[in-house]
Amino acid sequence: MSEANFFLQDENDTVNFGQQLAGLVAAPMVIYLTGDLGAGKTTMSRGLIQHLGHQGAVKSPTYTLVEPYELDDVEVYHFDLYRLADPEELEFMGIRDYFNDRSICIVEWPDRGEGLLPAADLHLHLQYQDHSRALHIKALSEKGEALLQQLK
Ligand code: ADP
Ligand code: MG
Repeated sequence: MSEANFFLQDENDTVNFGQQLAGLVAAPMVIYLTGDLGAGKTTMSRGLIQHLGHQGAVKSPTYTLVEPYELDDVEVYHFDLYRLADPEELEFMGIRDYFNDRSICIVEWPDRGEGLLPAADLHLHLQYQDHSRALHIKALSEKGEALLQQLK
């Protein structure tokens, strides 16, 4: 499996990258997004979700843990597990129903759900780099690998 690095100069670059991803993803797919608070995980998710057809805002589901988007061709679930106290809470919310053959799941703070969260196809890590961001992508499945090759 391969890895790749990208440089995102400003917020617009991050949104554009999310949009680019939207042109390549297909259900079922699981994307993990990691990086410090304010690194750009939700900004990237916004570009992705809006480019998949959602009209309107994309807010961080910090308190609800997950925000569903029922789009024309696909179900998208955007998770933010920052406030998850115990991975077992994922069992109570019926986590398995979200990760199905028709869905694309985007997960911020996946480490909070370790052990109970389904494996990812792609892992995107955002890091502060001066006033910009560095993006590191790791493919974790054949599907993720094929997608990453197209991004390069
Ligand atoms: P997270 O979800 O990782 O906590 P957010 O996406 O909510 O982060 O916030 C990211 C912040 O960083 C926003 O203020 C956004 O404008 C800014 N930002 C996003 N991408 C970049 C970038 N490539 N360079 C500089 N600032 C960025
Ligand atoms: Mg966020």
